[in-house]
Amino acid sequence: MITLSRVGQVLTKRLKKLGLENNLDLLFYYPNRYEDFSIISKIANLQLDQTTTVKGKVEIINNRRSWRRRMMITEAVIKDDTEGIKVVWFNQPFISKIIKAGEEIFISGKVSQDQIGLLFKNPIYEKARADTTHTARIIPIYPLTEGITQKQIRFLTKQVVQNISNIEDWLPEKIIKQYKLLALKEALQQIHFPDNWQKLRAAQRRLGFDELFIIQLFNLKNKKELAQKKAPIIKFQKKPIINLVDNLPFKLTASQKKCAWQIIKDLEKNKPMNRLLEGDVGSGKTVIAAIAMYNTALNNYQAVLMAPTEILAEQHYQTLTNILGKDTVAIVTRNKKSIFHDSKIIVGTHALIQQKIKFNNLALAIIDEQHRFGVAQRQALQEKSGLTNLIPHFLSMTATPIPRTLALTAYGDLDLSIINEMPKGRKKIITRLVPEEKREKAYQFIREKIINSEQVFVICPLISESDKLGVKSVEAEYERLKKEIFPDCNIAKLHGKLKPKIKEEIMADFRDKKYHLLVSTSVVEVGVDITNATIIMIEGAERFGLAQLHQFRGRVGRSEKQSYCLLFTNSNAPATIERLESLVKSHDGFKLAEYDLKLRGPGAMYSTEQSGFVSNFKIANLSDHILITEAKEAAKNIIDELKNYPLAQKRLEKFQKIIHLE
Ligand code: ADP
Ligand code: MG
Repeated sequence: MITLSRVGQVLTKRLKKLGLENNLDLLFYYPNRYEDFSIISKIANLQLDQTTTVKGKVEIINNRRSWRRRMMITEAVIKDDTEGIKVVWFNQPFISKIIKAGEEIFISGKVSQDQIGLLFKNPIYEKARADTTHTARIIPIYPLTEGITQKQIRFLTKQVVQNISNIEDWLPEKIIKQYKLLALKEALQQIHFPDNWQKLRAAQRRLGFDELFIIQLFNLKNKKELAQKKAPIIKFQKKPIINLVDNLPFKLTASQKKCAWQIIKDLEKNKPMNRLLEGDVGSGKTVIAAIAMYNTALNNYQAVLMAPTEILAEQHYQTLTNILGKDTVAIVTRNKKSIFHDSKIIVGTHALIQQKIKFNNLALAIIDEQHRFGVAQRQALQEKSGLTNLIPHFLSMTATPIPRTLALTAYGDLDLSIINEMPKGRKKIITRLVPEEKREKAYQFIREKIINSEQVFVICPLISESDKLGVKSVEAEYERLKKEIFPDCNIAKLHGKLKPKIKEEIMADFRDKKYHLLVSTSVVEVGVDITNATIIMIEGAERFGLAQLHQFRGRVGRSEKQSYCLLFTNSNAPATIERLESLVKSHDGFKLAEYDLKLRGPGAMYSTEQSGFVSNFKIANLSDHILITEAKEAAKNIIDELKNYPLAQKRLEKFQKIIHLE
């Protein structure tokens, strides 16, 4: 391991904030964009607004204090064999100590103009040398936090890149050859300091391939391991199931029927089901779970439904008892534990896994509001299932719309069932992007609804005030609404720093109508059914992904009453407005997620859940069907002979470990 030279304590600390602790971290900290300064122009040919590089001798360089503002200005004149040009830097007086008259330097930046003529304002500068870092090439721009400059990080990555001597390429040689990929070392060099755009694209392709390939290996291995296991056969109990469905207070949608049927078919096999049921908020996933669980119980096996919170578990308990009858269902949470020796149908929180509960022939495990079972969860359920030589069937349910390409990659080991229609008669949630001058009117509207005893969510991007100007926080907004806007209303606040128990109490009280308004961060995202809430007001909407905003919107609109989603933003950037307008126009979660994936990439789309899977994609373009297919094909080709590729195997184990820890 090389030690980085000239890294002081302060910088070390700041780098750590970005997760950069050693040179390998730096090597895999990719730029998020590039600036092309590779063309070196003659000064005589410069044109206004041109972004370019010049090379010249420093004729003169001086600091002076501006007389209008108290600012230090560094002025220089640079001359090449054609002409001279003025260069100014503001408030960086140290530059005149670094660059001396008579030296040859590169200047990269955009050409501006003042009364006298063309000039460079605050350009990047670098002493002339053959191998430049900051100028006269395509330069990397890194995602940074305050206190670190692009120059600092470029300086560091440059050292690391120059010293990659023995980084081992973990991709099997034959795959590199077959798919014409760059070698890892070259790809890493080119991703930071590309020789040209073509090389950069090749580097992106190689490193993107790596990300896709590892996840495909992971998926294939899971799938293979699971396929070697046996699960109990759950026969379709036609008569009682049809009877159950006929007695529901509503008719199942065609989509619900299709998904229920796919699950029933899976359960009939002696291979463990591993399926993801995706359906928008309110599309009716619970009843499908109920059908599968009932069918399992009829076969004399147990089924569990696990929810992420106590309130959700309670909610499911109510639903299931409504559908299946009171004495058939048991519930297990931290505070509540019904005796379930004879119960075939059990609902609960993660307490189901954590506590010393033993099942008696658990054949079906369903997890709600999660994209997949965690490795540890699956393990625990297998161990306490009470089955011998068999493992339970697994079903995950999520309201998060996952675009097809992302599903294929990140969740490629799961079979997919998608509910793509809403029950009939649901009112569309009226969504509006509200301009600031209509804020008062919006509050008036909210007041009317509150008088009508309807309830309101207010979502803020932050918990407490930060130095980021103008971004609303729960704490401040709570105080403001309480004092200035709705002094006569009961208002609660909710955020992630509260203890789980407190959070649940607040949600339960809100459900029981003890509050008119709930001011919250994104923690309300996950599935609570508060049918009396009809307005969700979202502050700083530009700070959320579309998929997430769509989830927020799903918190309302759960009754016959007309519901509203009011979006507020300080931004007037056309791209932001267009993005938010797409939410006004579209109520299709999949379309919105697809659009968001293109705009913001997978990392920004989802909040925290499954972060390992999604943050794995730093560079892979998930719209790149060809690369996805190639990675999949390549993974298939070597999965059975993984032993022969110890580096790939090691890499896979490391990836599994990361996933394990989540
Ligand atoms: P989600 O998919 O978000 O978990 P739920 O299962 O909680 O949705 O269902 C939302 C509501 O819709 C429930 O009150 C449920 O009874 C109702 N529901 C489910 N399916 C239908 C249907 N086919 N027709 C009408 N209402 C339905
Ligand atoms: Mg649900």
